[in-house]
Amino acid sequence: MNNIQYIYNQIGFKGFYKNKDESIKDMLKAFYETCKDCTKCALSKNRTQVVFGDGNPDSKILFVGEAPGADEDIEGRPFVGKAGRLLTTNLESIGIFREKDYYITNIAKCRPPDNRAPEESEMAACSYILKKEIELIKPRLIVALGKTAAVGLTGIKNISPTKQRGGFIKSTPKSPVLGPDIDVFITYHPSFLLRNPPQIKNFQEDLAKIKDLIKRY
Ligand code: SF4
Repeated sequence: MNNIQYIYNQIGFKGFYKNKDESIKDMLKAFYETCKDCTKCALSKNRTQVVFGDGNPDSKILFVGEAPGADEDIEGRPFVGKAGRLLTTNLESIGIFREKDYYITNIAKCRPPDNRAPEESEMAACSYILKKEIELIKPRLIVALGKTAAVGLTGIKNISPTKQRGGFIKSTPKSPVLGPDIDVFITYHPSFLLRNPPQIKNFQEDLAKIKDLIKRY
């Protein structure tokens, strides 16, 4: 019991109202504090810091990417580099803002060397953090940005965002972070789009679908 709760109890208030937004944010903050020195996998050796999720956890919309890059590793926030700005700009152009409309995080929370994809064992080691983020946020819509996120969320290894983007894939019992049969929306990772600009048009179509889905939640 904190000081304010104690004082309220002393003056006869049985309950203590706490804003739900603050509550989820506080719980995430407290949880992140317990894993900011995590050394469960080898990615801890070269990182500057663990990069946790960011945005509005009460929005119930969760974007999941691969792992932090160089800019994120330095700044300590996900999706702030060139690829992140591409995602943010495209979302903002259709009226979806990180501060109020979604939460965003990664499958692995530490930067892999040379920006390689995290290995399966690293994703498995890190799954306890994403699992807790999902448990606290209780998202109604989960969007996988790119193959690594799609594989890490669904437990299906042979996903192709190029062929399966723009729709849902159900998670399997092999998912380390979700129960089975949870819908995961698949689209490109923005770093893929930096290398393949013609695909941005398809990406924008997917974001428009996401916007429609958000309206329904
Ligand atoms: S990637 Fe995840 S499991 Fe590995 S050290 Fe970082 S926080 Fe820990």
